[in-house]
Parts: sequence; structure tokens; C-alpha cells
Amino acid sequence: MASAPAHGRWRLLDSLCALALLLGAPAWGAPPAPPQVDLHLDTPTQLLLRKLPLDSPSLEAGTPKLRAGGTNIAVMVIWPGQKVDPLVRSRDLMRTTLAEIARLPDVELATDPQAARRIAAEDKLAVLLSMEGAQGLGEGDWRATLDEFYGQGLRLLGLTWSHSNRFAGSSGDQGGGLTEEGRALVAAARQRQIVLDVSHASRAATLEVCRGAGGIPVIASHSDAHAVHAAARNLTDEELRCICATGGVVGLNLHATFVGPQANVERVADHAVHIANIGGKRCVALGSDFDGYIQKPAGLPDASALPALFTALERRGWTAAELDGLRGENFLSAWSLVQSK
Ligand SMILES: [Zn+2]
Repeated sequence: MASAPAHGRWRLLDSLCALALLLGAPAWGAPPAPPQVDLHLDTPTQLLLRKLPLDSPSLEAGTPKLRAGGTNIAVMVIWPGQKVDPLVRSRDLMRTTLAEIARLPDVELATDPQAARRIAAEDKLAVLLSMEGAQGLGEGDWRATLDEFYGQGLRLLGLTWSHSNRFAGSSGDQGGGLTEEGRALVAAARQRQIVLDVSHASRAATLEVCRGAGGIPVIASHSDAHAVHAAARNLTDEELRCICATGGVVGLNLHATFVGPQANVERVADHAVHIANIGGKRCVALGSDFDGYIQKPAGLPDASALPALFTALERRGWTAAELDGLRGENFLSAWSLVQSK
């Protein structure tokens, strides 16, 4: 085609810039970084208890360390615990975390995968909100509190923490499967397109949730492989197969207690390889547990060090596309599927 008149060329250039801005890409310069998701960060507890800001360099997963390590989509966890009233604690954590998101210009709440991608492409941090244990919904009408938290942006829900609760058994006290209320909660979460998280749940509860998934992905946000290190919290091959078959993902937990003896980058890579061997590389994701009082493996002291893990897996033959999957695409696909049902 012949060259357009000069003013036409400028108009074309303007349109391209407008299109680039619209798509969230920088108009000029480097392409946006790939989405990188960490499925489990206990940073909200540190914000509340240590009164630190989210951009504090003292946090393992505050904005400076996340940025340095490439994480641009962070699942921040409301951890109700057991000691104080779990509903009071959950509301306090929610309020504190939302206030920090509102305060920082380079941080935004994401409530769907499209928004998370857009925010990350704008070189900002997308925050997703998750609850680690449904005891955080309180002892009263859990449907009302589930709606309350959903309205504030909660999009992921763990059934239990380390103690069995009225919904499900926990791996922490060898609890049983889902209770009647637990089955109702699973159905209610699915109705609201909330991602169900079986990390910490008992084996019976995990298998029941996965077997009944009906095409809706289930995740284990921060769990390692039992065959690599036999910790009660780690997932058996049967559980891994079941979770991966739903289209869900398993986020690699970096806590040395779950990684195993001589925990370091290579031992974490061993878990990634095992999960991939059982459920496929599309099932592997990241769920570091940073800021959750974990014992860190050698070479992975905080969120800034995550690229060391990608390098280790690259050396084991993972392709760029497979590493992009592990970084974020695997989870984002699963989340999109949850939202499409
Ligand atoms: Zn946990």
C-alpha cells in the first residue's frame, strides 16, 4: 500500500497510542511483564499486628519485595486464626488491607481475572483477597458474612486452617470430611464464583470437594507434595491427581517444614517437578506463604528471590511457556474457568 498523507500517518499513530493505552500496555518501550501470581501471602496479618504499611521494605512480601521478584498479582490472605474471635479478626484484617490498597497509588484490588491482568499490565500490583479458614465467617449466619466479605472483594476461600471447624476436617488435627454445613458452604461459594481452596483441609475433605467439582477448578493455594516430603500438610498423589483433574492448581509452599530437610531452591523445584509429573505442568503455581512466620529455604528469603526458582526449573528443562504457566497463567486460566461457570 502506498504511504498515507502526513496528517493521516499522525492520525494512525494517535490511534495506535490510544489503543495501547486502552489495552493497558505502555505506548512505547518494553512490553508489559508477564502476570506473576503468588497465591498465598500472609502480609495482612503483619499489617495488622505489626502496624507496618504495605510498602514497607521490612515485609517479606510488601510492595518493594514483590516488585523486585516480579510478582504483580498477589493473593493477600485474611487469616482468622483461632485465638481471638475469628470473625472480629477477619473484619480487622479486611479493613486494614483495603485501607492500604486505597492508600497506595500503584496497588489495586482485583475481583476478576481480566482486572488482575489489566492492573499487572499497567505495572501496578493487583491484590486478590482470600480467607484462610471458613471459621472466619463467624458462628452465626455464615451466608450473610460470606456475602459481606464477597462484597468487599473476597474471591478465594479456604475451608479450614489447622483446626477442624463446623464446615470441614483439617489436616492439622486429622479431621474428617465435609459436614452438612460444609457442603452447603461449598455450594454457596460456587454459586458466587469464589475459588475453593483445599490447602489445610483433611484428605477426606479435599477428595470430596475435588470429586464433586463438576468441572469447576479447585485449588490448593499453598501445599507441597507428600511423596517428596511426608508432612501431614502435604498432598498425596491421590489428592494431587484429584485437584489437577478439576483444572485447578497447586501453589508451591516455601515453608521449610513442608519442603523437607535441607530446604533450598532445588528441593522446592523437586516438589514442582513431582506435582507436574502427577498432574501436569499446567497444575503448578506459586503459593509462597511469605509473611506467614515460615522458615525460609536457603536462597528464598523473601518475594524478591523468586526468580531463582524459575531459573532452577529452566535448568530442568521447563520451557518459557511452561514457566509462564507456573508464574501465573495456570492460575489465571483456572480462575477464568471458575468465573465462567
Ligand atoms: Zn496456611
